[in-house]
Amino acid sequence: MKKHLIITIDGPSGAGKSTIAKKIAERLNYKYVDTGAMYRGVAYAFKYYGFLEKEEDKLHEILKHLPLEFHFKNNAIVIFNGNNITEDIRTPEISMLASKLSQNKTVRYFLTEKQREEGRSGGVVIEGRDTGTVVFPDADIKFYLDAREEERTKRRFLEFKAKGLELDLEKLKDEMKKRDKDDSERQIAPLKIPEGAIYIDTTGLDIEAVTERLMDYIKVRL
Ligand code: C5P
Repeated sequence: MKKHLIITIDGPSGAGKSTIAKKIAERLNYKYVDTGAMYRGVAYAFKYYGFLEKEEDKLHEILKHLPLEFHFKNNAIVIFNGNNITEDIRTPEISMLASKLSQNKTVRYFLTEKQREEGRSGGVVIEGRDTGTVVFPDADIKFYLDAREEERTKRRFLEFKAKGLELDLEKLKDEMKKRDKDDSERQIAPLKIPEGAIYIDTTGLDIEAVTERLMDYIKVRL
């Protein structure tokens, strides 16, 4: 009988988590869960409504009633107020806001529960910053993807360029550095290599090579 594994992929920004997670999910016919898209979706909604931290006491209620939907299958679709905002959440501004909000324990608790619901029955590739440490510490296979800083920045820069957004490379580098630092140093669920994770440095490797490397570890567990 085919197993329905829970596979987690964590790592810093630009390490290739989303691209690789999508490829692996496609190969295995698994569900792909992008936890970063959830933090980004909440950030987008907070920006839209102008919610501030002073609303802390009402935060859980606010989160519960946000007109926000996440649809995960072989892609991560985010709907806000009936509109598809999947592409709109991929801006440097939303990245920074998502990182700031991700330090809040109410936001984390709320989204972690949703992520567990998405992956509980297995057959899932879930990626983010704490998927192997907090969301699914007992996952079947955990990966940590990394790459040298210059390469991660370059990948992001080219991703934006492909979408017609010409960003300042130095500014992007500083923002990514700050976000990774904040994500690694925060009190709750910081980015770190999960216990028992397979560490893969993707510097200089193309998407196919990285996918194959992960698949080699997965195949023996299927
Ligand atoms: O992965 P992505 O760049 O879309 O994530 C955006 C931000 O959401 C991260 O910088 C991080 O602050 C937060 N995040 C998190 N935990 C996760 C996934 C994302 O704190 N599991």
